[in-house]
Amino acid sequence: MHRSLVPVLNWVNLSTPSGLAVAVLSGCRITRGPHGILLAEGYRRRLPRARAFTVGSVVLLRGRVPQDVPAGFQRLLEHEARHCRQYAAFLGLPFLPAYLVAAGYSLLRTGDPASRNPFERGAGLADGGYREQPLRPVAAAVRAALAARREPRKQDPAS
Ligand SMILES: [Zn+2]
Repeated sequence: MHRSLVPVLNWVNLSTPSGLAVAVLSGCRITRGPHGILLAEGYRRRLPRARAFTVGSVVLLRGRVPQDVPAGFQRLLEHEARHCRQYAAFLGLPFLPAYLVAAGYSLLRTGDPASRNPFERGAGLADGGYREQPLRPVAAAVRAALAARREPRKQDPAS
């Protein structure tokens, strides 16, 4: 699929209108970004916890675009632009359940929702600010998942 088609496809498959609805309902400021994406700055809801996340061709950001756009931020936007292409390949919103299953698998195998998530790997782990985590044996992973369900997680002060 040609990159220039992605914004059009994500309009037609309704994932970009959905992303814009989330952005508007969350009080974000929307501007045009690079790679055919729309930037929605100022996302403040609790979930998802990520610094940036993508719905269709809309990239929702916590906070503002930094001044003089540092290289790490440009790489993050390239990472999110790859997620835009994944939305187009999944005909829009069906990407979301596929992504959640992949994140669950990665969480079970590594304790991290991104490391073994094929969508995050395809978008570039390092560009997204993720680190490769070692695989855990399945039995240990199941025990850890069950233990996590029993003990409610402590509040994460970073989020
Ligand atoms: Zn990502």
